[in-house]
Amino acid sequence: MQYTERVLEELIAKNPNEPEFHQAATEILNTLGPVIDRHPEYERAALLERFVEPERVILFRVPWTDDSGRVRVNKGYRVQFNSAIGPYKGGLRFHPSVNLSIMKFLGLEQILKNSLTGLPIGGGKGGSDFAPKGKSDMEVMRFCQSFMTELYRHIGQDTDVPAGDIGVGGREIGYLFGQYKRICGEHVGVLTGRGLSYGGSLVRTEATGYGLVYMTEEALRCRGDSFRGKTVLVSGAGNVAIYAVEKAQQLGAKVVAMYDSDGFIYDREGIRLDVVKQIKETERGRIREYAARVKGAEFHAGCKGIWNIPCDIALPCATQNEIDEASAKQLVANGVKYVGEGANMPTTLEGIEVFRKAGVVFLPAKAANAGGVATSALEMAQSSGRMFWSFEEVDEKLKSIVRNIYRAMDAAAEEYGVAGDYVAGANIAGFLKVADAMMAHGVV
Ligand code: NDP
Repeated sequence: MQYTERVLEELIAKNPNEPEFHQAATEILNTLGPVIDRHPEYERAALLERFVEPERVILFRVPWTDDSGRVRVNKGYRVQFNSAIGPYKGGLRFHPSVNLSIMKFLGLEQILKNSLTGLPIGGGKGGSDFAPKGKSDMEVMRFCQSFMTELYRHIGQDTDVPAGDIGVGGREIGYLFGQYKRICGEHVGVLTGRGLSYGGSLVRTEATGYGLVYMTEEALRCRGDSFRGKTVLVSGAGNVAIYAVEKAQQLGAKVVAMYDSDGFIYDREGIRLDVVKQIKETERGRIREYAARVKGAEFHAGCKGIWNIPCDIALPCATQNEIDEASAKQLVANGVKYVGEGANMPTTLEGIEVFRKAGVVFLPAKAANAGGVATSALEMAQSSGRMFWSFEEVDEKLKSIVRNIYRAMDAAAEEYGVAGDYVAGANIAGFLKVADAMMAHGVV
């Protein structure tokens, strides 16, 4: 049995009931065979066994009081997965579905994503099964303060720097940062995604969505094409989705559909992003409202139907496993040419296989959405240097990082005999740097 297969089998046996973690590990390990063939020393050093085992998992209780005075308890997590190339870095997710399996899949992906950015950041992820949706601002604040009252002792600007993810945006980062500063008495870059008035970076809000579109644009450009006139589907209606739509529209695409967890909107004339922003960012409302406000637009309950709409480019930007085999087949049948993953692991392994066989240009999450964390690292650099760069400066750096990632995964795929397979290319390019650092550090 091959080394990668053995490690995967052991991982599944040792970590039962963690399907998302198994899925992410399978996707990664299945592509690393050619690297292991060239580096037999990795097996002697049990490098893969160490790579798939988090350095540390912190699990804690988060008690808080709701507006009616009732005491509630949630679970808090921080998975400090790998610090070989830099301090742990990765978002916090607040969503009822959060569990250890999801934290570990996100943490594992984050290691390779952060490596791909070329910046010195290790991989981590955290969060809670708390649902901010439907909670008052004061409830969210009390929850965030309680969460940070435990988390503060495990993080630091040179050890672990969390950021946002699903359910954690500017409001939550503000409350978390306020509590950290109050406990530690330090105004430092311990969280990214901060507001501009207290150490944040321009472009951070837009970075993941913009980065996704910059990478897709690069893939189009390399094939003599562009976004102009393309029909695009974007799932999700949160931070990543909104700014992916914004940039795609600026580049001349027509985005016709988006969704939140209730269902999708379909607007043949092209989504009006000002209306979406008003509903989702200002009012914290539901996407169904769009159909009531824009003539000719439709709302359909349920999410899956979005993938039945014909498109040239699909950008899944909501959550894991949004595109399964059946949805992938439908997209292919309708002529999709490019799929760029804005969300983490939005396509199932079977879905990826459908795209591969059909020759769809598939840009995997760890490369396609790395613009977000890359800009977080730029925020860290500005914090430590006591600097503040202009929008144009950060945007240029973001574009250049994203293009470099595209080139790195394209070149790695080519070099390892799987040209055009960006799943393999991204995994290999990201892994090589981490493996090299881990080997240099000895058995730790
Ligand atoms: P947000 O919380 O801002 O938005 C998430 C959106 O996805 C919401 O519209 C939400 O709908 C929808 N959604 C979430 N879960 C589900 C579900 N189970 N079914 C259907 N819709 C769902 O999160 P982000 O935009 O920040 O994150 C989106 C994805 O991008 C995640 O996979 C995240 O890990 C990834 N990502 C985010 C980065 C960032 O910088 N923010 C960086 C890199 C990756 P509803 O409001 O109804 O729940």
